Amino acid sequence: MRIKIFWFILFINNIFLLSVEAKMINRLEKIYLTAVGDIALDLRKLIPSIKNAYHCEVEIIPGFREVEIAYNKKRKQYYAPQILQELEKLVPSKEQNTRLVGIVDQDLYDEGLNFIFGEARGNTTIVSLWRFKPCTEIDTQEEEKILLDRTIKTVIHELGHTLGLGHCNNRKCVMFFSNWLGDTDYKEKTFCEKCQKKFR
Ligand SMILES: [Zn+2]
Ligand SMILES: [Zn+2]
Repeated sequence: MRIKIFWFILFINNIFLLSVEAKMINRLEKIYLTAVGDIALDLRKLIPSIKNAYHCEVEIIPGFREVEIAYNKKRKQYYAPQILQELEKLVPSKEQNTRLVGIVDQDLYDEGLNFIFGEARGNTTIVSLWRFKPCTEIDTQEEEKILLDRTIKTVIHELGHTLGLGHCNNRKCVMFFSNWLGDTDYKEKTFCEKCQKKFR
């Protein structure tokens, strides 16, 4: 009897795991990218790496400009949930297999955190360039590459969360949690084998 129960639990467990994985397989059909206010980055440069990670269409759409509504005078920072709320209104369709990524050039925060690089909520994601810049003015190609790489990794990471992926303990995996920019610079723009398997 005990053995039967064991196999039953194993069976149920596998069904559960399969259904979780099945939910994630090839779910994304389209990712929309949008600038929130003015940003110091050409969004088109993000497209190849995002396409490489998610194998879906990526389209740039006009954003919303009134980023100041999320400004907190005391903190001199911008409240990420409020921007996410605005971004949700932009999603062209309510389809489950599309995502929207907003890129903002302001310093973001959320309750209980000093700052955030990015945040995901439902099908929407916000990523800030503010702390990714190696210097105030991006003049050289090297500086732009650093900014671009950090942004791409964070966008792919946050999109992973919208698909149900959690943090990975492989430091090279894009789903590794970045405590500081050194973590972001060290990781790749791609998923590790273990995370990749959850897609197909
Ligand atoms: Zn994360
Ligand atoms: Zn991983």
